Amino acid sequence: MHELFKVGNKILTTLEANGYKGYFVGGCVRDHHMQRSINDVDITTDALPDDIERLFERTIDVGKEHGTIIVLIDDTTFEVTTFRTESGYSDFRRPDQVAFTSRLNSDLERRDFTMNAMAMDEHFQIIDPYGGRRDIAERVIRTVGRAEERFNEDALRMLRAARFSAHLEFQVAPETERAMAEHAQNLEYVAVERCVVELLKLYRGPGVKAAKSLMVETHLKDHLAFLENIRDEDFLDTEVHSLENEIALQMWRNPELRRHLHELKLSNDMKKEIQSTTGLIEMIHRPATVKELAYSHDMKILENASAIMESNAFSELEEKRERIQSAIDLKPHLPISNIADIDLDGKMLMTFFNARGGRWIRKVFSAIETEILDGNLENDRKKIMEWVDAHVEYEAGDIKIIEE
Ligand code: ATP
Ligand code: MG
Repeated sequence: MHELFKVGNKILTTLEANGYKGYFVGGCVRDHHMQRSINDVDITTDALPDDIERLFERTIDVGKEHGTIIVLIDDTTFEVTTFRTESGYSDFRRPDQVAFTSRLNSDLERRDFTMNAMAMDEHFQIIDPYGGRRDIAERVIRTVGRAEERFNEDALRMLRAARFSAHLEFQVAPETERAMAEHAQNLEYVAVERCVVELLKLYRGPGVKAAKSLMVETHLKDHLAFLENIRDEDFLDTEVHSLENEIALQMWRNPELRRHLHELKLSNDMKKEIQSTTGLIEMIHRPATVKELAYSHDMKILENASAIMESNAFSELEEKRERIQSAIDLKPHLPISNIADIDLDGKMLMTFFNARGGRWIRKVFSAIETEILDGNLENDRKKIMEWVDAHVEYEAGDIKIIEE
């Protein structure tokens, strides 16, 4: 039995001991049934949020009005959510009303796909009123109830269908796919952040290629920020395994796309990563040395670019691939990995030249950086100051480097 279920069982038995019902639910039941690995375990119960808080020692309120309380057991977190129904989705993205219910089946009914609408009790008995196991056996993604209705309620579910198809390499049921094609444009009502969460997951699945075809065929792609600007044939012919690399590669191929990057509302770190990857692919098309490639980019970026070059067509591919691989090999052996690693600070230079700070300090650092990277100078404070003494002349706020 998976450790998470073992620990989670403590929650189920506590609920039962107090006269409530509790079940494992959703993705963990699907993955358990499919004998896939399990990352987190969600629990559904007829206990109300206040009851849940009362029954367990350590809880965190993460959305009581929606019925969700986090329960901590042995430092593992479990989302425990009260059975609920949802109704009145007038904006294609969230229910106008959430109501608690005492019936498990009503809670399962609101869930997106049959395979996600199963519950499991503490004896590992599966409750499966909508044919989740049958669809899993047939490797089919099917909405609970009529697909049009379900996608009208929450358009994100269409993108989730594509995400699950990438992850599980399942087909979308014909009527579900037809409804996706019909309702694709409702995706525009969904917050871009929610779409990005699904897209990030989609790209990590083994079936990303098929999922991208599905997104093109159903036109989901045409209603997603940023992606809508990529030509279908450009979107389909890349071989990438992260959203970041997709964007980086597409932006390199078509610089027009760069002005749309902000529309995805990604974190600054992620934007920077993508832009650096695009920049590195650009750099590799210029006569940059291996050392320049290695020094100018973080390992993560080198690896992104390497993964992109590995499986996508580029001119003179072999040579470029080798250069990026050499840069990855060289990177850990560089004497410094950026200018901040230099064993010196600006104050020492100011004292040495008895001068005030200014742009000249940056110039000295830059000269030292080159010497160290070229292997002419050790990254050692004393050695560096000797080099400065011999090679740098300071005069009235500026410096001159004396070549040997
Ligand atoms: P993963 O293993 O990737 O986390 P998951 O099935 O657990 O997959 P979550 O996004 O964590 O997916 O959602 C948990 C459960 O909540 C789902 O299994 C499903 O039952 C339900 N669910 C999530 N989002 C929706 C939605 N938009 N509409 C209906 N039900 C949903
Ligand atoms: Mg989950």
